[in-house]
Amino acid sequence: MKKISVIVPCYNEEEVVNIFYDTTKEIVNKIENYYFEFIFVDDGSRDKTLEKLVALASEHEDVKYITFSRNFGKEAAMYAGLKLSDGDYCIVMDADLQHPPALIPIFIEGINEGYDCCAAMRTTRKGESKIRSLFSKTFYKISNSLTDVKLAQNAVDYRIMSRQMVNAVLALSEVQRFSKGIFAWVGFKTKWVPYENVERTVGTTKWSFTGLLRYAIDGITAFSIKPLRMLTGIGFFISILAILYMIWTIAEVFIYGITVPGYATLLTVLLFMGGIIEVSLGILGEYIGRIYMESKNRPIFILKETNIELTSLNWEKEK
Ligand code: UDP
Ligand code: MG
Repeated sequence: MKKISVIVPCYNEEEVVNIFYDTTKEIVNKIENYYFEFIFVDDGSRDKTLEKLVALASEHEDVKYITFSRNFGKEAAMYAGLKLSDGDYCIVMDADLQHPPALIPIFIEGINEGYDCCAAMRTTRKGESKIRSLFSKTFYKISNSLTDVKLAQNAVDYRIMSRQMVNAVLALSEVQRFSKGIFAWVGFKTKWVPYENVERTVGTTKWSFTGLLRYAIDGITAFSIKPLRMLTGIGFFISILAILYMIWTIAEVFIYGITVPGYATLLTVLLFMGGIIEVSLGILGEYIGRIYMESKNRPIFILKETNIELTSLNWEKEK
């Protein structure tokens, strides 16, 4: 019998963990030939999530939990879950039931058909604010025009992956993780499963607007250096304009003699150049910041407690 590890990042999800487990369990119980285990990753919750998980684990032997020393973010939680899992397949899904467990049987069909991965894709963005949808659309447009890794629009982090793919994902051990890009980058045969967006019924979203903006910038800088090349392009373009203008100015001196007025031109050019330089420094800074953070080689998460037996296999790096 093949084993499937269901990895569930949880941050302040005390209201949902039990409902999540009951609902999902009911669905996977009907699936034959596979054994399901649940790995809940408590990402440093401030509420009673951990207590709920420990209680759940004491009642059900298919429930495992991992808890961090503080909040490390969903990306770190997913990584930890994958790292400590040993299933032949791994499913990553949110705790808030926005990732419908009813898709699991469809995922299983997909892997039985020989796919390495089945991933969910939202067909609607119902229940999401207009601004967020617009922001997200713009992000995919910019990101896909800048990076070679094509991100599927409306793809969510809800998917099943073969062990081979999970190992590939884990091999990309960067600290600043952008899973959407990582999943796309590692490749493998992926089947897309469309579903209708479900509104969060309990608890609240953990995302803020600045958080999303940060996420978008990380997404682009993690997979592309095109913004840096664009700076070179812009530099060249401006230099050519500058040379043309210089030739014109010198010619003007020969034709008309020295003409003093030029205040507006000077000011415009100065401000324009200042703006370009600032933006360029900002873009450079983004990349230097990423190099800096990666060069520290800090662990992606710090584990505090788990009921998973730590083997050398899942525990080489983080100990
Ligand atoms: N999450 C997490 N750490 C965080 C933020 C979120 O583990 O720092 C988990 C959260 O508990 C949920 C999933 O990631 O299971 C998705 O979060 P959320 O529902 O807030 O995001 P949204 O659905 O709005 O994108
Ligand atoms: Mg959610």
